[in-house]
Amino acid sequence: HAPAHFRALLEMSRFHGEKVFLVYEDEHITFEDHFRRAATLANRLIDEYGVRKGDRVAVAMRNYPEWVISFSAVLAAGAVAVPLNAWWTENELAYGVRDSGAKVLIADGERAERLASTGVPMIVTRGEATGGARTFADVLGEVTADVTLPEVELSPEDPATIFYTSGTTGNPKGALGSHRNIGQSPMTVAYGLMRSVALAGKDPAAAAGTRRITLLTVPLFHVTGCFSAMTTTMFSGGGLVLMYKWDAGQALRLIEREKVSAMIGVPTNAWQLMSHPDFGKHDLSSLSTLGYGGAPAPPKLLERITTNLPDRAPSNGYGMTETSALAIGNGGADYHAKPDSIGVPSPVVDVRVVDPMGEQLAPGEVGELCIRGPNVILGYWNKPEATAETFVDGWVHTGDLARIDEDGFVYIVDRAKDMVIRGGENVYCAEVEAALFEHPAVDDAAVIGVPHDELGEEVGAVVRLAPGASVTVEELREFLAGRLAKFKIPVHVWFREGELPRNPGGKILKTHLRREVLGTPQ
Ligand code: ATP
Ligand code: MG
Repeated sequence: HAPAHFRALLEMSRFHGEKVFLVYEDEHITFEDHFRRAATLANRLIDEYGVRKGDRVAVAMRNYPEWVISFSAVLAAGAVAVPLNAWWTENELAYGVRDSGAKVLIADGERAERLASTGVPMIVTRGEATGGARTFADVLGEVTADVTLPEVELSPEDPATIFYTSGTTGNPKGALGSHRNIGQSPMTVAYGLMRSVALAGKDPAAAAGTRRITLLTVPLFHVTGCFSAMTTTMFSGGGLVLMYKWDAGQALRLIEREKVSAMIGVPTNAWQLMSHPDFGKHDLSSLSTLGYGGAPAPPKLLERITTNLPDRAPSNGYGMTETSALAIGNGGADYHAKPDSIGVPSPVVDVRVVDPMGEQLAPGEVGELCIRGPNVILGYWNKPEATAETFVDGWVHTGDLARIDEDGFVYIVDRAKDMVIRGGENVYCAEVEAALFEHPAVDDAAVIGVPHDELGEEVGAVVRLAPGASVTVEELREFLAGRLAKFKIPVHVWFREGELPRNPGGKILKTHLRREVLGTPQ
């Protein structure tokens, strides 16, 4: 039997011994500590909760160290980890528990309250264990140095995780990932990061060889946090600095205090870090890498990083829950040369762009992006129809419109479902948004389709201005006229106070915005 991949990662992590793996506020947890607690919890899940290979165990918490310990324990026990979205309400959490058929829940105090009505046995950390629940510490009991991982027969094809997609296009789907999917992720990510450091003219070995301290600015319950940041750190022996929730001011303090070398998150994190009034008041010299992805990164972001954080290695990574995070990435000189591209495929994946009939298109032609490789998940949990539609002959159909240039660089044109069709003419929201970002008064922007009797749809934009900035609708439209064809220029512009609503994956909640400005979800 080949060793199941996650188990190999966990065993590898023990060699990092007394180095600090997880940092949360003033708590520091070493690799050895993490291993012992995860192995102990794995044994308890089997012995005291009757967890068996293939059973689902849900984890519902903020980014606490116990999230990582629990996740490791569930996989080590041969069970399937189901990270639940910590932002979910009671009803949504109940859906996740029901949908996955979780046998045990491991939750923090806040989530435990919202999960109580499910009646599923619960282990609670950082809060009270009421009803029949037990505390995390109680379940762990004595943690000894001689603890070993439970014996479970696992193969790389066995299910390891059910992550829920972020729900941009409908209800979140449970993405069933295998041990192979999670096992390949550190290589894919390390390759991407080292390559962008190398392409920035620096020593890639130094980037991997010295201890990389990563600040995680997004939740662990999505694949960017868990795979791109957590498993990669577990493998390479770096440190992972966790935050209860994203806060730019706190991020600035943590980068200085923990000498953070890499920040991993969504594009908005990097943007907000540089917009914070305290930016410039902190020593950020340790920070060498900014990795972001999961949502469109306007070229203006790269420009701002080049000016405000010169001599760093920014990188834009494209991935989805279905590709176990990173699949395509752009960094270093490549990124500066083609700032609107998501870059080149990870060495373990194949990409192609197809027409609606599934025929491969020529370079430069726009179609649906498809990806194949060891990172592509097994399918959707309990959704055979959606699985058959999305996963065809080993290729995952991403639902993203893209083109590939002669050099093999991939460009995301728009999400197929996001595009505005104005009188038969396609308007790509992402393109109009990128143009809006070019205006100095614009801090955030979202383009939406506005129903129109004759044209079907018109282009609308919701804009948030930078603090203290002002601009009129006419001025904005004039500015765009120099950059976009006439039919792409928003007819309706709404200025919005306060941040645009985003999900934890950094994507703007457009249905929410449509309802807000049009009164209909459309
Ligand atoms: P759902 O599938 O439930 O509607 P979702 O697709 O938003 O939700 P995720 O799997 O978290 O859930 O997101 C994947 C999507 O994010 C991709 O299909 C793509 O549209 C977008 N995306 C990811 N990375 C990038 C990037 N670097 N640039 C542009 N878009 C990106
Ligand atoms: Mg999706």
